[in-house]
Amino acid sequence: MTALAGCAARAAAAPAGRARSVPTVAAKPTTQDWIAFARTVQGPVDLPGTAQYDRAKLVFDTRFDANRPVAVMVVQRTADIARAMRFAQRFDLQIAPRGGGHSYVGASAANGTLVLDLRPLHSVTYDPASRTVLVGSGASLYDVKAHLAAHGRAIPTGTCPTVGTAGLTLGGGLGVESRAHGLTADRLTEAHLVLPDGSSVTATATQHSDIFWALRGGGGGNIGIVDRAALRHARSRRPGHLHPHLPQQRCSPGDDRLGSMDPGDRPLPLGRRARRRHGQRWAARQHRGGDDSG
Ligand SMILES: Cc1cc2nc3c(=O)[nH]c(=O)nc-3n(C[C@H](O)[C@H](O)[C@H](O)COP(=O)(O)OP(=O)(O)OC[C@H]3O[C@@H](n4cnc5c(N)ncnc54)[C@H](O)[C@@H]3O)c2cc1C
Repeated sequence: MTALAGCAARAAAAPAGRARSVPTVAAKPTTQDWIAFARTVQGPVDLPGTAQYDRAKLVFDTRFDANRPVAVMVVQRTADIARAMRFAQRFDLQIAPRGGGHSYVGASAANGTLVLDLRPLHSVTYDPASRTVLVGSGASLYDVKAHLAAHGRAIPTGTCPTVGTAGLTLGGGLGVESRAHGLTADRLTEAHLVLPDGSSVTATATQHSDIFWALRGGGGGNIGIVDRAALRHARSRRPGHLHPHLPQQRCSPGDDRLGSMDPGDRPLPLGRRARRRHGQRWAARQHRGGDDSG
């Protein structure tokens, strides 16, 4: 499991030349600490024992339904990521950033972590001049595909529309366009990230190039939380249709059309259709209080 450890910066700050002592264990945050923290951020901070928590901790894969993060914070603005990092550092909590929530190992719903659900930060901005698209850390692959398709442009992605663009890019990103356009990570030109001590850096090929190198394949849940990234887009190829088969437990018998990467396929996949056929559960996981079908 990868999760950002709030203790990293503290360890680095230990006085030099002193014999190594047994590390002091930070006190767990009390309910009052959580309440005080929640007042400083915009999104809800859901704690165990509430219905919101039970819903907010769920991710794509039902194998992780029993996982128990210490809290789930829904990030409504980038400034709150730094606040959460500092809070985690103070109490030695591990942070688990969550984009699309599709980690194969449930890293974005890991036990004992403070989950930062980044999905509200799903802006996508197309820039023809720089040939890049600026992607918020909560944008799904479908968000980016659909936005770029309107301009006849594309980035290489994976095949599942609800996978997070940040999560996929930071892990490499392999899909049907990879032979033509490379990995999604190859398209990354700039990443803005918040480090465990709450400071921010912009990483490019020439600026913090070591971080930039590490992000392209090893960035998921490591190094820092990417709040936005720029990716170089390419001319869109002839559109195709993909019908990924999702795990059995997600599908009604005979239904193999839950997901589609075809930007012309309206309404958006896993929106209205999912709610109608599969009840509220999946939709609630995907967009807390929102509507992904619009
Ligand atoms: C159904 C399905 C289909 C898939 N298809 C493909 C495919 O075609 N091609 C392919 O390459 N991969 C594919 N994957 C794998 C997928 O790309 C990875 O699991 C990816 O890491 C998921 O990203 P996410 O944001 O959806 O998941 P999350 O669980 O939210 O995040 C994955 C990891 O990245 C970290 N992370 C997320 N956002 C950030 C951020 N902003 N900053 C720092 N760390 C962050 C999380 O902490 C976690 O460690 C698939 C996975 C599934 C479940």
